[in-house]
Amino acid sequence: MTLKAFLYAGAVAALVALGGAATMPAQAGEPLAKSLFGAKRLPAATTPRAWGFYSKGCFSGGMAIAVDGPNWQAMRVSRNRRWGHPQMIRLIERLSREAVADGWPGLLVGDISQPRGGPMLTGHASHQIGLDADIWLTPMPDRRLTASERENLSATSVLQQGSLYVDDRIWTPAHAALLKRAAGYAEVERILVHPGIKKKLCDTVTGNRAWLSKIRPFWGHHYHFHVRIGCPDGSTGCRSQKPPPSSDGCDKSLAWWFTDEPWRPAKGPAKPKARDVMVMKDLPAACRQVLEAPAPVSEAAVTIGGDAVAAPPIAASAFAATPRREIPLPEPRPRR
Ligand SMILES: [Zn+2]
Repeated sequence: MTLKAFLYAGAVAALVALGGAATMPAQAGEPLAKSLFGAKRLPAATTPRAWGFYSKGCFSGGMAIAVDGPNWQAMRVSRNRRWGHPQMIRLIERLSREAVADGWPGLLVGDISQPRGGPMLTGHASHQIGLDADIWLTPMPDRRLTASERENLSATSVLQQGSLYVDDRIWTPAHAALLKRAAGYAEVERILVHPGIKKKLCDTVTGNRAWLSKIRPFWGHHYHFHVRIGCPDGSTGCRSQKPPPSSDGCDKSLAWWFTDEPWRPAKGPAKPKARDVMVMKDLPAACRQVLEAPAPVSEAAVTIGGDAVAAPPIAASAFAATPRREIPLPEPRPRR
């Protein structure tokens, strides 16, 4: 551990993690969970299960989406974040296929999770349990991107420069149709987008507007949108997020984003990010086993799309019905 990381770990007592519970102070020399999970190149070859919460957990039985599929291309491949719970990976494949009918030519797939989830070395508070995925708001080009383009190509913001509003020269009906398609899947609980995108949908969607309840305004998310699915059946160690209100959300809660408050710089000294201080005892106990579990024989054996399509075995015992505890997410806080 670096000295800086050590100091962060020691200063954590007052930190309330996004998962809703305090992160425990780390012992001197204790390895950071992000280093342990960040070092894993392959998933845990055990029953697919999500453990913990979106911002504090891990997962087993992970699968990858192939770098290339008929209707998708993975971006930033060197990060090795093409992994997720099989249900998430299958959903991306399905969205890529079905969105073609909406005029969206294919998905540029951003970060999903590390092979065994857990906190990441860089970026993302969530994406830890294999149930979150980022999809670019840039349509897939009609050619295969080179390895270097996948690392370096910039995504396109859909906002007018320096504004909170969508640029109508960039935004198309296909953008809206893609979000509607994704929100229409039963397993999708939330889609995070920039407030400007939410407003655009509020102002333009006609007919059925029920799906707008799943479209949630959040900071960032004008280059990509974030798809979150609910705890899969059998993942009894997965903590659900409270469902969003059933209204379309085109109300005061959205208007708040167009005030100064959400964008005001945070006061006081910067707090360390939860992912930068978490140690193993902050995560569900099962995450130790996830970390130690054997890897599959090869990456291809657990990759969807491309040449090999295989699923890890799912034990019947994985489907024991235990009620899940619901915990609320903290209110959004202004970010620096
Ligand atoms: Zn995301």
